Amino acid sequence: MEIIHVSAECYPMAKAGGLADVVGALPKYQQDLGHIAKVVMPMHRTKFLLENEWEVAHKGGFTMGSTYMEFTIIKEKTNKLGFDLYCVDINGLLDRENIYSYDDDTERFVAFQIAVLEWINQWEHQPDIVHVHDHHTALIPFMMQNSFVYGRLSNIKTVLTIHNAQYQGWMNWEKATYLPAWDTWKWGLLEWDKMVNPLACGIKCAGRVSTVSPGYMKELFLSANGLEGLFNMEAAKCSGIINGIDYAVWDPATDTYILDNFSVKDEETGKELNKKKLCDDFGFDIKLPLFVFIGRLVGEKAADVLPGAITTAYTQYGKTFSFLILGSGDKTVEAQLQAIEQIGYYNTQISYNEKLSHQMYAGADFLLMPSRVEPCGLNQLYALRYGTMPLVRRTGGLQDTVTDFGDTGGYGICFNQATVEDIVHAMGRAIEVYKNKKLLPQLRNRMMNIESSWESSAQKYIDLYLSI
Ligand code: ADP
Repeated sequence: MEIIHVSAECYPMAKAGGLADVVGALPKYQQDLGHIAKVVMPMHRTKFLLENEWEVAHKGGFTMGSTYMEFTIIKEKTNKLGFDLYCVDINGLLDRENIYSYDDDTERFVAFQIAVLEWINQWEHQPDIVHVHDHHTALIPFMMQNSFVYGRLSNIKTVLTIHNAQYQGWMNWEKATYLPAWDTWKWGLLEWDKMVNPLACGIKCAGRVSTVSPGYMKELFLSANGLEGLFNMEAAKCSGIINGIDYAVWDPATDTYILDNFSVKDEETGKELNKKKLCDDFGFDIKLPLFVFIGRLVGEKAADVLPGAITTAYTQYGKTFSFLILGSGDKTVEAQLQAIEQIGYYNTQISYNEKLSHQMYAGADFLLMPSRVEPCGLNQLYALRYGTMPLVRRTGGLQDTVTDFGDTGGYGICFNQATVEDIVHAMGRAIEVYKNKKLLPQLRNRMMNIESSWESSAQKYIDLYLSI
């Protein structure tokens, strides 16, 4: 099969979160299964773009609304990612440093999607599957089926994977004129709750809809930021496939970002050396349990509860632990987290830092994820792989991937609510585990032996394509 993934992000070209990790890994594993998988994404102006060699694959133009736009598709020359990576450049619109959060994001991503279809429409052959990811690419199935100019693409099978249903790409109706002339009888496919809703449109038009864990899929039938009714109507084509992790990037035995490589056989010394580096860098006492949080400082991740939880834990347990935070997002939360720095044995890094994140997975004892919403969650999978015990709220993919150490075969700490009380209680349990010098190595052994590779999930996506 020939599969074209269309995405706003792909690691290492451009990453804002888990979407990039998935799109950077899944195609590689699909290639290993004997298929041809390609990725096409916007040409963000990133370090990877500037440091690699590219060749022009296609040039074209189209009219969006009343504006004529020229575009270029470039291809990475050296197959660095293990699959063909294509980027779409539209002067002034896509070649920017950030992936999202511009006022004209609607125009940027609609133009990107049209350029992708203009390009595929010129191919002599046709791909078997067009696999789109999240709302930024979710108008593609609609355009393939209903824009007159793409008539020859209308029978190609499509899949939409939802990495996060909170964001839906809502647009005013006047912007529907951006799409190449389409069959206006079909306006209902674009609409949800009186707006053009690209994610809802993708759910209606794609041949199959998947999310990144079975647990999150179940939640979406009950709560999906207004789309619950739609998920129920389309239930027959919806399913959840858990993300894997890319062992080429996330393996403590080969990770080039960490100080000392280790595996399950020498985890005790390996983790100790990596922890020492973190403790030295941040002035922590290596004898104390080290907790970390890595992620976007937003409501979905329950980042707003962190300042209260951490200060309460210090009040309740004294200075018996260290805590390091890496993330950025809500400015109020950032300021609150920085304001508690004087506590001691505590540090906040307000930044996006890939290297430090690897060092934290390797050197920490515990990773806290109190998320309110977690479609899959990759942090806990990385933590497990690096022998760091995850403390997670029972939600979405976290519930699917972490079993409490109190349950048979368990290895993590689970709690029910994203509240100060539940988090502090979970941290108290973790501090007790840390004191038990026999139990912790046993649990680490269990965690590090968990199989989370992409192999089986990549096959599940192939089965999904075949089921259309
Ligand atoms: P989401 O996509 O909702 O942000 P995921 O758990 O699916 O959450 O993926 C998060 C990914 O982003 C992980 O690879 C994590 O290590 C990384 N990440 C998040 N914030 C940061 C940060 N501030 N610095 C480095 N890596 C980060």
